[in-house]
Amino acid sequence: MPATLLRGGTVLAMDAGRRIVRADLLVEEGRIARVGRGLRAPRGAELIDCAGKAVLPGLVQAHVHLCQALFRNHADGLELLDWLAQRIWPYEAAHDARSLRFSARLGIAELLLSGTTCVLDMATVRHTDEVLRAAEESGIRYTGGKCLMDAAGSPPGLREETRAALDEAERLGTRWHLAASGRIRWALCPRFVLSCTDELLRGVRELSSRHGWLVHTHASENRAEVDEVRARTGADNVEHLARLGLSGRGVVLAHCVHVTQREARLMARSGTSAVHCPGANLKLASGIAPLPQLLSSGVNVALGADGAPCNNTLDAFHEMRLAATLHLPAFGPRAMPPAEVLALATIRGARALGLEREIGSLEQGKRADVTVVDLRTPHASPSGEDLHGTIVYSARASDVTDVLVDGRPVVRGGRLLTLDAGALARAAPAEVARLLRRVRRPRPDRRARRDRER
Ligand SMILES: [Zn+2]
Repeated sequence: MPATLLRGGTVLAMDAGRRIVRADLLVEEGRIARVGRGLRAPRGAELIDCAGKAVLPGLVQAHVHLCQALFRNHADGLELLDWLAQRIWPYEAAHDARSLRFSARLGIAELLLSGTTCVLDMATVRHTDEVLRAAEESGIRYTGGKCLMDAAGSPPGLREETRAALDEAERLGTRWHLAASGRIRWALCPRFVLSCTDELLRGVRELSSRHGWLVHTHASENRAEVDEVRARTGADNVEHLARLGLSGRGVVLAHCVHVTQREARLMARSGTSAVHCPGANLKLASGIAPLPQLLSSGVNVALGADGAPCNNTLDAFHEMRLAATLHLPAFGPRAMPPAEVLALATIRGARALGLEREIGSLEQGKRADVTVVDLRTPHASPSGEDLHGTIVYSARASDVTDVLVDGRPVVRGGRLLTLDAGALARAAPAEVARLLRRVRRPRPDRRARRDRER
């Protein structure tokens, strides 16, 4: 791979000192070789002119569902449990290999074009190879795995027998973990407590400790979910998972909207990460996670857009702006400093994935996952003294001009090099129509009927 010199930009390093420096960044052999002024380009190096631009660590989203990108704008106006039962589960059950691969490509195209270089994903139950192949061909840094659902009450097209689900997860993990020179990593993804028997969750713990695979699930997103978990298990989500051994550095819990102080302390003590998903939490009317409290309790928090049909965008800039502003009315105007918001989407996300030594900041020796943002736009001008604020409050996904993953350019001059983004967008209406023809809708539940009658 030829070297790349990113010349003349302003580097937001996101290192421990949160340094901002006017510097060039030299990429060699997929890693950051040097950060400094006036660097000479080695012979044959590719030059990226970064004058007037911010150079950021590639953005990390620690909770997405690529399998749902095709359902964007097809599941609005519902709360979580109805949204799942009435729309998302029937749609996921209707996926075939072709529609799933299309959905993953569509989601990845959006993510890379908007500067997200690394995701923690939850796939659906079947055809998981298609998502991993899309990750492999697109160049995105991917950790994820098949969704696991075995409990009574899981929908017919997605519910699996416990042993079969665990066996398939192990088979796929053995095949895909550390594929694409380590860019792809496997994760165990039980959907959430209500979809999983204790036996399944114990099996997940066993596989995780045997193979060192990350565990990625949802917890305490919605009030009704929390109440039902309490009624079934006698405990709150985080506590129930911890009792089954699912806590610690290798466990990532999406949402944590309705967690207690006690659960926050448990997460901090064990090193369990939370993923803040403000866009999805607002649109599904789930609530507002106590982000400043989680952080001050010592919990590692990452950021994620969740699925395209609950947000309805996978744009990390949108999530950062929400995380930066949503908590201020309750906690005061200085509760979420912009540098710490950008940390959620970079170094803290990397830590959630166990990759903080490799990515998440722009420091010599780290893998070259880099996002370049043009600040010479009317909506971001003039930029303030603290460029973290300009990125978090003013910049937009469409300002991303160049993206590198493992030193390989995947976006150049605003154009995606690894997938045909325009063709995906043009084909999406026909692809979703194909899928919708296969959907078997469940009978509306009592709550949905009651809501309609109101
Ligand atoms: Zn989710």
